Amino acid sequence: MMSTSFVAMTSRGRGTADKELQTVHREVVVVGGGFAGLALADRLGRDDVEVLLIDRNNYHQFKPLNYQVATSQLGISEVGYPLRGIFRRHDSVKVAVGEVVAIDPDARSVTLADGTVCTARILVLGVGVDANFFGVPGAEEHCYPMYTLEDAERLSRRLISELDRVDSPLGITSDIDVVIVGGGPTGVELAGAIAENLRVVIAPRYDGGIASKVTVHLVDHGDALLKPFSDASHSYARRELEQLGVQLHFGTSVTSVSADGVELGDGSRIDSDTVVWAGGQRPPSLIADSSLPVGHGGRINVNDDLTVTGHDGVYALGDIALIPDIHGRGGETTSLPQLGSVAQQSGQHAARNILADLAGRDRSRFKYRDKGIMAMIGRGAAVAEIGRGRRHIQGHVAFLAWLGVHVMLLPSAWQRLAAVSSWVTDYGTSLRPRRVNVG
Ligand SMILES: Cc1cc2nc3c(=O)[nH]c(=O)nc-3n(C[C@H](O)[C@H](O)[C@H](O)COP(=O)(O)OP(=O)(O)OC[C@H]3O[C@@H](n4cnc5c(N)ncnc54)[C@H](O)[C@@H]3O)c2cc1C
Repeated sequence: MMSTSFVAMTSRGRGTADKELQTVHREVVVVGGGFAGLALADRLGRDDVEVLLIDRNNYHQFKPLNYQVATSQLGISEVGYPLRGIFRRHDSVKVAVGEVVAIDPDARSVTLADGTVCTARILVLGVGVDANFFGVPGAEEHCYPMYTLEDAERLSRRLISELDRVDSPLGITSDIDVVIVGGGPTGVELAGAIAENLRVVIAPRYDGGIASKVTVHLVDHGDALLKPFSDASHSYARRELEQLGVQLHFGTSVTSVSADGVELGDGSRIDSDTVVWAGGQRPPSLIADSSLPVGHGGRINVNDDLTVTGHDGVYALGDIALIPDIHGRGGETTSLPQLGSVAQQSGQHAARNILADLAGRDRSRFKYRDKGIMAMIGRGAAVAEIGRGRRHIQGHVAFLAWLGVHVMLLPSAWQRLAAVSSWVTDYGTSLRPRRVNVG
């Protein structure tokens, strides 16, 4: 496809940085190299469409496995992979690392933090979502959020230093309490993995005592774990976490967080200097600050062909988009959940529609193929609900299915190989934690 890119330079006013303002034009500009942006750029790259993919990081992160980085099961390079490496075989896809600070949907342009303006014939937004602390006092300041690979690495360092305190011949000088806020898949997976580190990997090496000194708490304002799953999965997850010694606090919320603990809505308090926030997400302020139309939860309103309502040349995909579920139950139109599979399929479908745009053909409606949902609780313990009918499986079969699905979704063969080798060592032995704390 013929290139339409150009670069224009204009000098900045007196008193600003020496750098010149730059305007770059590309056929398709994609913001966000997550599941959605990656799937879209890959499909367009195969048809030689000129794409500029912008991300604040030089890597794609596989968010569903971030908790395994936080708990020393996988290393960073098994979960994050360089975007340039992913697109090395697509000459027409160029990757730019930069922070997008403004979006102009009318001009189909974005502005980067260094002042560069990127304009496009078709603009695609796949910026994902950020942690939502719901204004809980102290939460943003003191919690360890669990949304990005950077968060996972920071939490990993914290947990390793806590485990160093526990796993010591000198004995534990004070109790250790880890609090996890939120009983969704991320909270459950984290609670299971941290408790397993203590109970299965560390405690057997000592005469006892450790189990009573270290407690993992999970707080959720609802009355069940894994809310989007079935009752069978709720009960299974609860039983498995309780067996690992996790203390569950249902029906109460965290009302404030300080450097040494959390206050709960029922008036109780848990002393802890490691509070993990897995309690909710929201669109970045970048979206609210633009003139994009937003709906429920501040997500961008899109039509059923994934274009932004009222903006024909702009697409929004994945977590950031309020995508209509055209199969909505009872005939009503609902929106699709914020899942990796929705993001990936929306990226693939938007690419097909962009190819149609460029060829002057009609776009088609996005129909999500729902293959089900799954969550890991610990070694040999997982739940999966298969297909739209949500056929429930649990235990070892679900555990193996979880490993298989996640390994297949990793974007490179190298990562797949590395993850399988880590899991064989990890789940087949008691060698965790094997990571070092640097810095
Ligand atoms: C901890 C965790 C666990 C999860 N587990 C599961 C699971 O088990 N199964 C499942 O289906 N889903 C899971 N999800 C949800 C799934 O990860 C998301 O639905 C999916 O990542 C959404 O893809 P996306 O492309 O919309 O956004 P993301 O994958 O979030 O990607 C957004 C990209 O945009 C970039 N970006 C954002 N803002 C800017 C900016 N201003 N400038 C430049 N770049 C920017 C980011 O760096 C990122 O690369 C999980 C999510 C989290 C956080």
